[in-house]
Amino acid sequence: MTKKTEKARAELHTHLGAAVHPSILWSIAHRQGIKLPSKNYWDFEEMITMGEGRKNKNLNDMHYHFYHWTELIQSSPEAIEESVKSVIGGGYRACNLVLQELRFNPMFRNRGGERDLDHIIMSALWGLQHALLEYPQVKAGIIVMMDRMFNYGMNEIILKKAIKYRHQGIVGIDVAGPERKNFSMKKHALLFEQARAAGLGITAHTGEAGSLEELRFVVREIRPHRVGHGIKCVEDAKLMAEIVEQGIVLETCPTSNLKNNVVKSLKELKNIYRTLLRHKVKFTINTDGPEMYRTNIRKEQELLVKNGILSPKQVDECTRWAFEATFIK
Ligand SMILES: [Zn+2]
Repeated sequence: MTKKTEKARAELHTHLGAAVHPSILWSIAHRQGIKLPSKNYWDFEEMITMGEGRKNKNLNDMHYHFYHWTELIQSSPEAIEESVKSVIGGGYRACNLVLQELRFNPMFRNRGGERDLDHIIMSALWGLQHALLEYPQVKAGIIVMMDRMFNYGMNEIILKKAIKYRHQGIVGIDVAGPERKNFSMKKHALLFEQARAAGLGITAHTGEAGSLEELRFVVREIRPHRVGHGIKCVEDAKLMAEIVEQGIVLETCPTSNLKNNVVKSLKELKNIYRTLLRHKVKFTINTDGPEMYRTNIRKEQELLVKNGILSPKQVDECTRWAFEATFIK
């Protein structure tokens, strides 16, 4: 099969900080004069990607080791424009990704307030538009992320920016980051309500690791369109029924779950997917960040089929669900 006749694929859950090829980040870092810990490209590639056998102890581990560098390098208008453009074109060339939603947190791209958020967001949107001009077969949009490490006021600023740019390529809002004692999802429900009123798609990272309670709250009170990961719902049949009833679609990321020790084995992964299917919970297959996890959508689909987790027909169904659940209108 040539690349041209390869089947159409979709991805709804990719972090910009985990999606840009290391060689591109390497060049951007040099162009900006960023002092890197090594002068050797291969050390750099190893530092920001998870090669064979490399695993994180938990999600905190992942955050500190990998995102620090990629976010720092992407923290300028020029860098973010090039980054966004490269990911959309790259996905299309690598595995016929004709639908891509890419997410990032602008406040992790402004060097602690030194850079202007509007410039960062607009530059990301220019990168998006350039990519769409180069690859007119692709539909793409940006999800803006809030974070559990930020206080309510900071996340409110991010939400307001997402709303401001909703007609220029921002398609949704998300919250991410490892669990934090000070973070209250309850308090943030109001922000999600504002996002909904403004017509943005709503997703939230929850039910990945951590408490099932938060996932329950998100499903019942925030009522998002989709949930990032959400796989912990398999522990609660009633919750799965609510997810189905509300038409919430899960954004699952198999390799990421295995690499971050959220799912311990392929056997556990199989049980999760089987349970979701049995309870008719709709889900999509995603990378979470193809370059960091050294994967892509085709490889994720192959992993599931090769290990008898999903059939090729079920994989196609997931692709259909992704096309149905996209925030891109
Ligand atoms: Zn994610």
